[in-house]
Amino acid sequence: MIREFFLGFIKIHILYHAGEEPVYGAELAQELARHGYELSPGTLYPTLHRLHEQGYLDRETRVVDGRARKYYTLTDKGKLALNEARHKIAELVAEVLEGE
Ligand SMILES: [Zn+2]
Repeated sequence: MIREFFLGFIKIHILYHAGEEPVYGAELAQELARHGYELSPGTLYPTLHRLHEQGYLDRETRVVDGRARKYYTLTDKGKLALNEARHKIAELVAEVLEGE
């Protein structure tokens, strides 16, 4: 159950960072670890794949140091979803953290 909640938070982090600049898997794994989410590649990569399939992320392969790396950026659909999430997060924080 807890894991299921966090996966939602993780997706919002991914959308947010992909909206700031193009991001790739290993970089996101580090960023998420910084936030306290230890994600295995077996969770992260399918999540990125799904966000791409669903049209929230664009994907572009670039060759870096002789290795192909997939970079993700936020699509317009992703921007809309992130904006909607922002409002819901603000509302949730206001309610849940009220009186903390
Ligand atoms: Zn972050």
